[in-house]
Amino acid sequence: MSYISEEHQQTLGELINSDNTTETKKKDISKELESLKEECLACRRCDLRSGCRQVVFGSGNNRARLLMVGEGPGADEDRIGIPFVGKAGQLLDKILQAANILRDDIFITNVVKCRPPGNRLPLQPEVEACIPYLRQQIDLIDPEIIVCLGSLATKNLIDRKAAITRMRGKWHTIGGRKVIATFHPAALLRDPSRKKDVWEDFKQIMKIYNPV
Ligand code: URA
Repeated sequence: MSYISEEHQQTLGELINSDNTTETKKKDISKELESLKEECLACRRCDLRSGCRQVVFGSGNNRARLLMVGEGPGADEDRIGIPFVGKAGQLLDKILQAANILRDDIFITNVVKCRPPGNRLPLQPEVEACIPYLRQQIDLIDPEIIVCLGSLATKNLIDRKAAITRMRGKWHTIGGRKVIATFHPAALLRDPSRKKDVWEDFKQIMKIYNPV
């Protein structure tokens, strides 16, 4: 004999089913992200792959609420296989620490996944070849917040005509996500006077990411 009314049994069943569904969905996302990564690692859509050591897919939490998008791997990233591990990355780590954002909780990637020779800017055909990977990463990770680090990510995710100096620090809603641009950490290394603007932008990010 059951002490739970039929109505409640059904509710309980729905709960159990919905829990299973959530679990299955989580596993599928990891699998899908893994197979996207494999596809990306084998990519030959443009010539960048022939001039670099490895594809830098991105790293962090597959279920991140916050996704950061840079430009493309530099020499250190190309050697190690993880985005933002060189000088610009070390500065980004300091900013994240000051903003109380754990790198392991977020996901970090780039517009292009292969290092352009001599650290030049990626060419438009290279961006167009690579950006479907970023779009699929966004769909799968499903972040609430996207931070564009620098002009390339800003132009490709917010507005093709955007000037980073005017665009930074403003929230945009794109596909239901909150998207903001700030200066690239490498730009801060070249011009430290921009650090105060970046800190203003991160204060805004903190308000949404870590509301108190
Ligand atoms: N600059 C970028 O845009 N991405 C990196 O991963 C490293 C430096």
